[in-house]
Amino acid sequence: MCIFCKIVAKEIPSHVLYEDEGYLAILDISQVTKGHALILPKTHYDDFRVAPDDVSGKCISIAKRLSFQLEQTYAPLGYNLLSNCGEAAGQSVHHLHFHLIPRYDETDGLVLKFNAADHPDLKKIADEINQKK
Ligand SMILES: [Zn+2]
Repeated sequence: MCIFCKIVAKEIPSHVLYEDEGYLAILDISQVTKGHALILPKTHYDDFRVAPDDVSGKCISIAKRLSFQLEQTYAPLGYNLLSNCGEAAGQSVHHLHFHLIPRYDETDGLVLKFNAADHPDLKKIADEINQKK
C-alpha cells in the first residue's frame, strides 16, 4: 500500500483541509510555501495519465475551492497547481496528486523556471506530435 493510500486509510496521520467520499486534500509535509496542499483521489491511480478524466477534474475543482480559503487566510499573490508524472518530473509518490502551492514572492521557496530553447522549430515539433494523433 502506498503512503497516500495509508493516509487515506488513516494509518498515517495528516492535516486534512478537505475530505469527501472520494477525495482528500491535506497539507504537504514539506510546506514549500505556507499553505502548500496536496489534493488526491482516495482511489489509487499512479498518475494523471491513467486516472479517469473526471478524477483529475474533481481534484482541480477542489484546488480551486482551497485557493479561495487560502486567499482568505494568507492572502498569497498567486498559485501554482501542478502534478508531477514520472520520476524525471519529480514524482516521488506514485499516487495521483496535485500540488496547490500558494505564491508570495519570487523568493518564497518554489523555483520554477522555464528555460526556453534557442530558435525551436515549432512547425517541426507540432508536425511530429500531430503524426501520433
Ligand atoms: Zn496509493
